[in-house]
Amino acid sequence: MNATLPVIRLRPREGRRVRAGSPWAFSNEIIMDGTAKSLPPGALVRLASDDGTPIGTGYFNPKSLIAVRLLGGPDLEIGAEFFRAQLKRALHLRERFYDTPFYRLVHAEGDGLPGLVIDRFGGSLVVQVTTAGMENLTEHVLAALDETIAPDSIILRNDTPARALEGLPAYVRAVRGEAPARLVLEENGAHYFADPQSGQKSGWYYDQRDNRRFMAQLANGKRCLDVYSYSGGFGILAAVKGATEAVLVDSSEPALQLAREAAAANGVVERCRFVKAEVFAELERLSNDGQRFDIVICDPPAFAPSRKDVEAGARAYRKLSRLAATLVAPDGMLLLASCSHNVSSERFGLECAAGIHRAKRSAALVRQAGAGSDHPVHPLLPETAYLKALVFAIGE
Ligand code: SAH
Repeated sequence: MNATLPVIRLRPREGRRVRAGSPWAFSNEIIMDGTAKSLPPGALVRLASDDGTPIGTGYFNPKSLIAVRLLGGPDLEIGAEFFRAQLKRALHLRERFYDTPFYRLVHAEGDGLPGLVIDRFGGSLVVQVTTAGMENLTEHVLAALDETIAPDSIILRNDTPARALEGLPAYVRAVRGEAPARLVLEENGAHYFADPQSGQKSGWYYDQRDNRRFMAQLANGKRCLDVYSYSGGFGILAAVKGATEAVLVDSSEPALQLAREAAAANGVVERCRFVKAEVFAELERLSNDGQRFDIVICDPPAFAPSRKDVEAGARAYRKLSRLAATLVAPDGMLLLASCSHNVSSERFGLECAAGIHRAKRSAALVRQAGAGSDHPVHPLLPETAYLKALVFAIGE
């Protein structure tokens, strides 16, 4: 046991989930005594039940709702060796799924590394640290990356909003090599571009890889609409797989510019159209114009970023489903996605169904999917499986 680490105790009869193997203890589940309150944010601790039975080793933030995040069992030494072992495990897992080095390398709790997300673009890594505990351990993370991957560049993309809640500053900085302005990545056999410094999140959303492939395999000879296209993940692949036309709609000019470059790199410029517009307005316009598409893809930003937004978010998903379903040609396909972890998959499915019904279209649900295998979920934190992607076959 790490005898020198301070001990945080659970309150009597509290912490059922963490005692059953979940990696989180909430602030209302622990005894917030003087020692606990005086610990600096991110301090390494041992967690024990109220009778002193050891539970695990992790880090603690007295200011966070998730007060303790566990890294492993009560005997764990948190140091270079721990990070080396975790990263090797994460890397081997990806190497079993993917032939090319473009994927999410570390997905926080899903890889036993809470507060850490790493996206890999070949020899470049984009690292996001979201907790004070992991911030304190960043040097170990970087050393382990040097040993396991030896990357050309590492960018710390530490400007996520979650950091403010942990009392951490926002910054973006290259800590190895030069910070590239543009990264090239390969996914589903197509080439894309990402901006690791000012693009959204790490610059790329690897989570939709499998859903992009699923939709693209239906695209040959079809007309496709990809709204909230970002840098072309869905739309460009549809064109590569033979779509007669792919219309990509997004409000971000820099994101669309990268999509244009991806179209050029994949030789499909003539069959792609890029529209800078607000999606709801554009869907209404296309509908009034009498346009129809064989395949419609809607992968919006989180409509319910916090718990208080759930009802407004649910209404927005319903409206989006209605507007999108209206545009689907008879016997077409509609993908509706949500990355709001506050909206359950059941609720999301109901809102989509209601919206499609309001559009007076019949539908059959043909695929229910989440993020790809490079976004593993801790089995005792099923609510962190944030991504939901539903594909409906639309009738008349
Ligand atoms: N489908 C993309 C990811 C979408 S991320 C992919 O496969 O990678 C959400 C996108 O929605 C962002 O690119 C953002 O610029 C865009 N966006 C957000 N609100 C919007 C709005 N009201 N109208 C148009 N685009 C919007």
